[in-house]
Amino acid sequence: MKINRLLISVSVMLALFCAPTVWAATAVKDVRLWAAPDHSRLVFDLSGYADYKLFRLHKPERIVIDMQHTKMKANFKRLKFPDPLLKSIRYGTPKKNMIRIVMDVKERVQPRSFLLKPLKGKPYRLVLDLMRPTVVKHKRQPSLHPKKGIVIAVDAGHGGEDPGAIGPRKLMEKTVTLAVAKKLAAAINRKAGMHAILTRKGDYYVPLKRRVGLARKMHADMMISIHADAVRQRQVKGASVYMLSDRGATVDRAARALAAKENAADEVGGMTPLDEVADPLVSRILGDMFRSDSLNSSQLLAEEMIKRLKKAGPLKYKSPKRARFVVLLAMEIPSVLVELDFISNPVQERKLRSSRYQNHLAQALLHGTVGFFRKMGRLRAAHSNVYRGPYAMQENNRAAASGLTQKMTSVGGV
Ligand SMILES: [Zn+2]
Repeated sequence: MKINRLLISVSVMLALFCAPTVWAATAVKDVRLWAAPDHSRLVFDLSGYADYKLFRLHKPERIVIDMQHTKMKANFKRLKFPDPLLKSIRYGTPKKNMIRIVMDVKERVQPRSFLLKPLKGKPYRLVLDLMRPTVVKHKRQPSLHPKKGIVIAVDAGHGGEDPGAIGPRKLMEKTVTLAVAKKLAAAINRKAGMHAILTRKGDYYVPLKRRVGLARKMHADMMISIHADAVRQRQVKGASVYMLSDRGATVDRAARALAAKENAADEVGGMTPLDEVADPLVSRILGDMFRSDSLNSSQLLAEEMIKRLKKAGPLKYKSPKRARFVVLLAMEIPSVLVELDFISNPVQERKLRSSRYQNHLAQALLHGTVGFFRKMGRLRAAHSNVYRGPYAMQENNRAAASGLTQKMTSVGGV
């Protein structure tokens, strides 16, 4: 009797567990589109695991996804067009319990797809990259970009699927980092003898190791990765500067937690299995990372940044912090990660949203960079003797900018 009852309850439990997987169809709940220079990325949010088939059709060029046991709940009208590669997207139900998504594309693209498991509040996601084959080939040629003076890799944290931290008024870290990175790059490019490269130029995701690989390919002399942090306590504010820790160094808990958060970007942003097979150059560095000379110069760079950020706004930590950040692994060049402020603080969030304050922070980062290369003996303080006309103009701009700095500090920012 007892055994029978047990059998019944086991079978009821089995039925409860099995039924949803057999009968419930997966729903496509939402869709987003991100345009990168070499590909366009479509991300489909799914209510669960989905079986899908991907194929190409020609004349006209189309990419097709067939999904079994799936329902469409997403609204394609929300996608922002025009896109450089995707002309239009539609779907139909050729069979019961099956949907077919058809993407009309502007040129013959190479599709690549992968499924991401649920993570950090994000559901199952099907990622479809429409790769532009010709651009990929050309972009891989480092010799196409001759070195111009001191090259600085400016890395805007997060992007695309990965918003980074989000403020109480919904300002996204990825938006602030890109705005400040672009302003910093423009300011660097206005300086004689310096040249900036951006690891990302728009709202799309770039895997962390590819950012490092890009800095290396462009023969960068320095890398700065720009971020904004968030914590639960809304009153916390201020900038902080991080550098890579060497293996033996003691790392405090907060710095380790921050590194874990920033390093998780790949899982949120959507790193393809192909990206995992990293650049052999990068892998070599991973094996042979810790060179004390570049650690020392990173320390000097971090201190210069803190010195300037202190004048620009509130500061969270007076000295550089160390942790293992994947994006700082280009160890042969001085590299720092700057958390501009806490986007979780409503007052700082409002400031971070303003173009004027973003400019103000970019100027601080520029002065930190220039100060560092002067200390390293690679930029002369008495530059104006050599470059007369254009430099005189830049010095005036700089004076104007530092005047702005003082004014903004005295009134407590914008
Ligand atoms: Zn970040």
